[in-house]
Amino acid sequence: MYDHAALYRHHRELFDSAIQRVLASGRLDWGDEAPAFEAEFAAHLGVRRAVGTNSGGAAIKVALRALGIGPGDEVITVPNSDILTTSAIHSVGATSVWVDVEPDTANMDPDAAAAAIGPRTRAILPVDLYGHPADMDRLGALAARHGLPVVADACLSLGAEVDGRKVGTLATITCFSFAPTKHLGAFGTAGMAVTDDPALADRMERLIAYGQDRARHYRTFGTGAMLEHVEEGMNERLDEMQAAVLRAKLPLLDASIERRRALAGIWRSGLASSAVTPPPERPGVRHSYRNYVVHVDRRDAVRETLATAGIATALPYAPPLHLQPVYRGLGHGRGAFPVTERLADRLLGVPVGPHLSDAQCRYAAATLAAA
Ligand SMILES: *Cc1c(COP(=O)(O)O)cnc(C)c1O
Repeated sequence: MYDHAALYRHHRELFDSAIQRVLASGRLDWGDEAPAFEAEFAAHLGVRRAVGTNSGGAAIKVALRALGIGPGDEVITVPNSDILTTSAIHSVGATSVWVDVEPDTANMDPDAAAAAIGPRTRAILPVDLYGHPADMDRLGALAARHGLPVVADACLSLGAEVDGRKVGTLATITCFSFAPTKHLGAFGTAGMAVTDDPALADRMERLIAYGQDRARHYRTFGTGAMLEHVEEGMNERLDEMQAAVLRAKLPLLDASIERRRALAGIWRSGLASSAVTPPPERPGVRHSYRNYVVHVDRRDAVRETLATAGIATALPYAPPLHLQPVYRGLGHGRGAFPVTERLADRLLGVPVGPHLSDAQCRYAAATLAAA
């Protein structure tokens, strides 16, 4: 599925020199790397502001807090995602409201979201599953009709586009993860929240760093000046070492997404005329293929055949959250989200990523088609 060591070897000097630069600077905290990466990432996406965090989950949590969402508020999201999507909502004291998904993309169903909006709804939080953007046109219009912000969980969709518009520019706040297995992987844990709203960005900067004004903190750090906490903050910052690594990797991002798309093409042609349903790519969408997830009957048997042939597989995100032990108490049993459940029973994640060769991909596709 992944080969971090191989990817490191491809660009070893680049990464080593970034790490050496941080160590030699002596500025392990409050240095220039994090702000520089924020500026470079914002420019890459064409957004006004980017706020670095120490994970994708932290980015979602900070986005919700910056929007003032808390106890008594409801946030609409989906049950087929990383648990961090839902736990971020709960961590600010708000209530998650799961809705079912569309049968092709497995993303939030805008009609289901519309039906779930009530007097306590404070935000819509769609997830761009596997790298295919949610229907942001319909969800954005729905949110606008109700005066709600959209917080996009784009932890799987960096590099995706809708009609030439980049993911990151389609929501009030968009959250990314730089976990090692994501498109832009740090050598540890990191994330980012981006927005065109400077007031929200300023607030997120305070929330990730002790509730202090960032410009003041940079000016006074190490001078012995008094602390000034203007609101109750956390420590959810992007650290200098990860920022330096991410700066080295950002120029390689577009090529690595092209590589993912080329491999997706090999998968698609290898599976043509098989009993396997390949992932959709709706008209106007540029999928960024963080995962290549197919749907197939008798999934577990197929999975075993692939394992025997030496091909790794994964089940991203099955079982869905409403059927996980931790959320049983919420009272959504089997049948609560029928489309999500049907997809979860048939989904199969197969390898995709810049560590794979064409030959490996062709072999895996042929094996799956035969299975
Ligand atoms: C990875 C991921 C997260 C969490 O990101 P971390 O960096 O691991 O905190 C949240 N949502 C989705 C959809 C993800 O894929």
